Amino acid sequence: MTEKISYTELYQKLFHYYGPQGWWPAASDFQMLISAILVQRTNWKNVELALANLGKDAAAERLIQMEEAVLAEKIRPSGFYRMKAKKIKAWLHWFQKYDFQVERIQSVDQAVLRKELLAIHGIGEETADAMMLYAFDKAGFIADNYAMRLFHRIGYQLPKTYHALKIEVENFFPHDLKMHQEFHALIVEHGKQYCKKTPLCENCPLLSFCWTGEKKERNLLS
Ligand code: SF4
Repeated sequence: MTEKISYTELYQKLFHYYGPQGWWPAASDFQMLISAILVQRTNWKNVELALANLGKDAAAERLIQMEEAVLAEKIRPSGFYRMKAKKIKAWLHWFQKYDFQVERIQSVDQAVLRKELLAIHGIGEETADAMMLYAFDKAGFIADNYAMRLFHRIGYQLPKTYHALKIEVENFFPHDLKMHQEFHALIVEHGKQYCKKTPLCENCPLLSFCWTGEKKERNLLS
């Protein structure tokens, strides 16, 4: 059986293979923040269509004035658009408390900020952690489905819940903003290129460190 590599070694191997990802793929902090809601249960292409529909209205001061039904229509390509319009409105009212200033939020204590975000309608742990990591400069791990799938296949003994996995990785990974930003982006990239629903193990750069990949190889040889 392959020896389990550390999270930091995994990060280094992915970084070496894919290079810097420079996430989040949005034109501004504000676009990053609303796209973290728009991307819930859909893919990035649909988020881009919704952002294109919003055009110059993709600004906090304009969106907070906009009728919820009008907003919903504009973000229709992202799916679940009525629900998402409600969530964006709720989030905007929270953002307004900080005068729509990302910099003001960046100075809020990390635990306090996470609690505030999680108290907003429609903001779950993954969305809150993405906002914290890519707009509010708070280092932390996003324990999303890509990470769960990859870690499980590599052979890590995983905690069952989102929060427990997040804490587990954070305990063993440097508390470094840039590294966490890259780690999440690299895991997603790897999940799209190789560790898909049906994994493409044969040429995977993690093959020699991965329990699932090794098992598949052995079965092929026997
Ligand atoms: S070897 Fe296969 S299962 Fe393992 S990380 Fe690569 S693609 Fe995923």
